[in-house]
Amino acid sequence: MTLIDSHAHFDDFAKEGTIADVLSRAQDAGVTTVVAIGGGVEANRIVIDTVKKHPGHILGALGFDRYAIDTEVDVDRLRQQLSEPGVVAVGETGLDYHYSADTADAQKTLFSKMLEVSVECALPVVVHSREADGDTCALLRDHASAWKNPGPPGVLHCFTGSADFAERPLELGYMISFSGIITFKNADELRSAARTVPDDRYLIETDAPYLAPAPYRGKPNEPSYVAHVAAKMAEIRGVTVEDVARVTTLNARRLFGLKEVEEK
Ligand SMILES: [Zn+2]
Repeated sequence: MTLIDSHAHFDDFAKEGTIADVLSRAQDAGVTTVVAIGGGVEANRIVIDTVKKHPGHILGALGFDRYAIDTEVDVDRLRQQLSEPGVVAVGETGLDYHYSADTADAQKTLFSKMLEVSVECALPVVVHSREADGDTCALLRDHASAWKNPGPPGVLHCFTGSADFAERPLELGYMISFSGIITFKNADELRSAARTVPDDRYLIETDAPYLAPAPYRGKPNEPSYVAHVAAKMAEIRGVTVEDVARVTTLNARRLFGLKEVEEK
């Protein structure tokens, strides 16, 4: 059984010098591939560096997220970085009105720019959306209609919405990724979304170093713990963990175009 962690941040691991340990524990847990996530100049640099050092095991997403609204984005440089081997997505990027509703306009401008880059570079987008569902869906509608590739246009990562809300991005062709939040006691509504999403449309992730799943809740998260997300997903959907591993690996390969990566 092999697993893919579709979303982890390596900034802390890089600073602590623990990437090799984290990856060896991931491999022991059957996690063969991890997608390292950027979002700002420094985070993107760490992703590029980590992907280069661990070809085949770590893939990368590069872009500018809402915390980078004051950064002057060099789109030409980003496009060039996105063409590097092992770089498979734009992101993460999106809207967060929970912490910073006051910057909504600037967030929307940056998110739109990243969605344009995704279309131009034909790479799917990794979307963050919190308490911004209406605006996120409006922008994704435009992105999905501009998207010309055969694969899915992107993924809503660390999904926390209801089954009803999940319908909208699913209709537009996006994947939905579930994190360790599905193991939290108060997450019944999210678990009903995790139960109903179609087999060919969901991924699993850790969002490490945040949001460690039970029984590690509150501790630093790491890619090996995606095995706990897979186990919970299997319980919620009434299938075996091998089933979850098989479909999420296929879905991640389809989303991130992993055949092309091997040839690139
Ligand atoms: Zn993230």
